[in-house]
Amino acid sequence: MTPLLLDLVNSRIVYPDGPHDELADDAAARAWLRERGVEGTREEIADARTVRPVLAAVIRGEEPADALAPWVDVMHRRARLTRDGLRWQDDVPAGRRVGVRAIEEWAALQGPDGSRIRPCADPDCQHFLVDHSRANARKWHSMEICGNRAKARRHYARSKEKGGAGSAQ
Ligand SMILES: [Zn+2]
Repeated sequence: MTPLLLDLVNSRIVYPDGPHDELADDAAARAWLRERGVEGTREEIADARTVRPVLAAVIRGEEPADALAPWVDVMHRRARLTRDGLRWQDDVPAGRRVGVRAIEEWAALQGPDGSRIRPCADPDCQHFLVDHSRANARKWHSMEICGNRAKARRHYARSKEKGGAGSAQ
């Protein structure tokens, strides 16, 4: 199944000139969901918009994981007896299906090395990243953008330090 969680929490970024939201209008939200294997009904669109800020807050550590209870509480599986034996099927209300899928992904990213989904370390960046590296130590959502910006900041701080010391002499 196409991953949905990371794209979902990255789908709304507030820029100085206002928010850029990939789910802002229904047609865009439907297309966005369809690209990720969801039909994109009215209920699913509403659910995607509802669960997004809750997941973002939980991943940022601003809310406890309990905030996800409205979705976790409706996670059910139903057994069916088939020729091949028991088959388990998700039995989740339509209005919670997108959230449940995202939360299943989120849960799979929590482990002994901490969460593998987290905010970008750049204080000016609102993106999240998923780290599949062994050390789980990735800091930037994009090395090109945020990694280079951090490098430039360090360089600037160093040159200012040097300059300051030089002028004091
Ligand atoms: Zn970033």
